[in-house]
Amino acid sequence: MHKPLFTPRNNYEIYLVNRFTVHNLLHHIIYLAQTTHHITVDTESDLFTNRPALIQIEFIQEKLSTIILVETFHLPIDEQSLEFWLIRSIFKYILQPNKTIYCWGDAEEEFKKFLIYRLYTDDILKVPYMVNIQDKFKRWHRIEIGYYETSMNKWGLQMAIYVIYNEFLDKTQRLNIWSRGLHRRNNKEDDDKILSMIYYATNDCLSVTKLAVTIHQLIIRKEKRKHMAMNNTNTKHIPSLHEQYHQYLQNYISKSTKEQQQSNCDNLLTIRPFQPLKSFRICPIHHLTSLEHLLPIVELCHSTQKFSIDIERKFETQQLILIKIELVQVEQVESIVLYLEVLNLFLLDTPLFLVVQKLLKNIFLPWKKIIIWSNENKEDLQALVQYKFLSESILNDTNIMELQAPFKQWYHKTFKHNVNCKVPSSDKEDSCCCTCPYRPYKNMNDKWALYKAINHVFNEFVSKSYGSHINYLQNIIYSVHRCLAVTKLSNVIELDWTMEQLHQFKKCHQE
Ligand SMILES: [Zn+2]
Repeated sequence: MHKPLFTPRNNYEIYLVNRFTVHNLLHHIIYLAQTTHHITVDTESDLFTNRPALIQIEFIQEKLSTIILVETFHLPIDEQSLEFWLIRSIFKYILQPNKTIYCWGDAEEEFKKFLIYRLYTDDILKVPYMVNIQDKFKRWHRIEIGYYETSMNKWGLQMAIYVIYNEFLDKTQRLNIWSRGLHRRNNKEDDDKILSMIYYATNDCLSVTKLAVTIHQLIIRKEKRKHMAMNNTNTKHIPSLHEQYHQYLQNYISKSTKEQQQSNCDNLLTIRPFQPLKSFRICPIHHLTSLEHLLPIVELCHSTQKFSIDIERKFETQQLILIKIELVQVEQVESIVLYLEVLNLFLLDTPLFLVVQKLLKNIFLPWKKIIIWSNENKEDLQALVQYKFLSESILNDTNIMELQAPFKQWYHKTFKHNVNCKVPSSDKEDSCCCTCPYRPYKNMNDKWALYKAINHVFNEFVSKSYGSHINYLQNIIYSVHRCLAVTKLSNVIELDWTMEQLHQFKKCHQE
């Protein structure tokens, strides 16, 4: 007899946290840790040795929960490194008095097992409000049916899920070597095994959350996002993470006792998720797209004058896989982003091919304006010639504006060297002597990466490259965000925003 498999109550995304996790992602997780009030935790230890190896944390949100799997065997080796500090910051914000932590069992005991990794200290484990769902469930169920079904014994999570939802929570991966590392190996057998371990670890959190809601221990409301940094309108400049880390090191070295000052500084540790200028719709184009779906888009491209384009290569092979084109229409409330899957190619001269060709010809016209981040991206557009969508001459006649260099100019003009910097503020170039923390590049030939530009101008997170995420849909959204980020930055450059305008924009849109 097959029981239906366990289904979580909400959608979710999963991230691995280890020494290879990129900074931007860690900033994003810190942001979640700051703004989420309801959290479920679970942990896993290795089979045979019983070494604590994995901490699972669910940041519970109404629509999309985020689950992080902290691989404690694979933390950064240097405890004074920025990476280690960022990971420690996640726990710092979780273990706060305004947080409620749900666990199947005693969360404090679970956390204690991991003290050896020095991600947090013993004394702050009593700070958050911890709810033992295993105990609460037992009491709730007794009231529901009138007696203790398990008598003196504790409830198993699998049994509770079965009794309440008639669903099967698969526990076969529980006894495992969790310290092996959960990254992909590009070997089907290993990857299947790892994937089922990840799902087991994730479901152990999601199932506790689901029960917590059912037994009324958890009421999920839309989280009101607090923007601590933005509340203080006197703050002219929000310290970047580089500055804050610098401050942390200073305090560490001087063993300063000015704890208040430190905590004020940490409150400013805010990197937001990327916010496009307006909401958007994604229009996927591949060999299965229907013609009826595409024809109105062809017309729309005809009437649109401005486009932002971003191109994606596969990280491992550098193979070109995606072209994303945003139709920038000022008068529309919503943007449309074409999501052209180059790998799922169209056969030459099929009706679909001809329609896509027509669509692209409506975009690549001499009087239209196309914005692209870098010169490399511009060269990537040659693929359209290669695949016979456009001719060489059409592409050459198009007005393609590269944003990277003008952005650098604007940034230098707007974020001048500060008074403490050895480089005089009249000197606009990057220099190896520069100590300004908000100027990440120190060589005058360095080129700005798109994600860094968004990060430094708007304090927002866009992921760096395609496919860094386990969740397929999330990869698509992040990828589209990179295209929308080009539009957002092009606005700043074209209108030549001052620091004051930027500040006003953030005040209006990020609070
Ligand atoms: Zn400087």
